[in-house]
Amino acid sequence: MSILIYAESWNGKFKKSSFEAVSYGVDLASKMNTEAVALVVNADDATELQNYGVSKIISVSNQSLKEFASNSYADLLKNIADKEGTHTLVMLSTSNVNSFAPALSIAWNASLATGVIAEPSALNPFTVNRKVFSNKAHADVVLSKENKVLVIAQNSYGVKENVVSASVEEYSASVVEANVKSEKVEVSTGKINLMDAEKVVSAGRGLKAPENWTMIEELAEVLNAATACSKPVSDIGWRSHNEHVGQTGKNIAPDLYFAIGISGAIQHVAGINSSKIIVAINTDDEAPIFKAADYGIVGDAFDVVPKLIAKIKELKE
Ligand SMILES: Cc1cc2nc3c(=O)[nH]c(=O)nc-3n(C[C@H](O)[C@H](O)[C@H](O)COP(=O)(O)OP(=O)(O)OC[C@H]3O[C@@H](n4cnc5c(N)ncnc54)[C@H](O)[C@@H]3O)c2cc1C
Repeated sequence: MSILIYAESWNGKFKKSSFEAVSYGVDLASKMNTEAVALVVNADDATELQNYGVSKIISVSNQSLKEFASNSYADLLKNIADKEGTHTLVMLSTSNVNSFAPALSIAWNASLATGVIAEPSALNPFTVNRKVFSNKAHADVVLSKENKVLVIAQNSYGVKENVVSASVEEYSASVVEANVKSEKVEVSTGKINLMDAEKVVSAGRGLKAPENWTMIEELAEVLNAATACSKPVSDIGWRSHNEHVGQTGKNIAPDLYFAIGISGAIQHVAGINSSKIIVAINTDDEAPIFKAADYGIVGDAFDVVPKLIAKIKELKE
């Protein structure tokens, strides 16, 4: 009764979130006194996962899984879970995982917990802590069915290096046809993937015009950070929707989040409040963002940001 961990990859490369999923699954397997098995799909180098403690890897290579389709992945995971005789599936919350986990749970007759932030506090009954109410609260939930699907919140558990030697088993899967196919795919051209970024520089309507993002991009560059924005900024087309963070946008948890000219509305904070450190720059000392921030600078972004860039460059030199 192993623990099966789905380690997602993009264009053959693992995402940082996959290493976190493996770290969680390996620790859970040890707690449950069983083996951790990772499942990878079209990965260039499956053995990379042995750096995170997993000793068995099932590798599926199949062209029809290159383009993501919820129903095909739900079916694949169910079949491999049944083949392995596992009752516990672990994966990290990504947009793909979030789209197939509910269908998988129904097809596999499993209890599903999303937004999981810690190892189970008890195994019998199986109890895990998860985020609720747009990350504003935590709840202990009991998964009563024998089959369980755990979707771990990004950056909640961490990546733990633990080098072992893993066996890789090639598995030739029969794949059900995708019931949704993409007509056109637009890939974000940002240098650093927002979902994986450790540092994020984000700006809002306080920036006043799209051309003022030059300084935001420069700050992001000196910090080696990704860029993000509030919803109205992407709605009016100043920035791409790929950068929109918040309740209706991306949910991120970097180590450092800069909120510049962002008021800190509840819907914005819902997507960033798992960040380790939040720094806010705002002219209004009563802006709600200061309640969420660890550090606040009351000041004009057009004055503060260039000074910040100059200081960081000076420190780097
Ligand atoms: C159902 C729903 C879902 C939503 N989902 C999201 C979401 O996912 N993400 C999201 O971001 N929003 C979301 N919103 C919108 C949200 O409620 C806010 O309207 C939005 O976050 C405000 O964006 P903002 O902070 O950029 O702009 P504003 O509210 O206009 O704030 C601009 C801020 O910039 C400051 N400022 C002005 N000039 C300067 C300057 N020179 N230097 C420094 N600071 C300056 C101002 O003091 C102000 O605090 C949602 C709303 C609804 C109803």
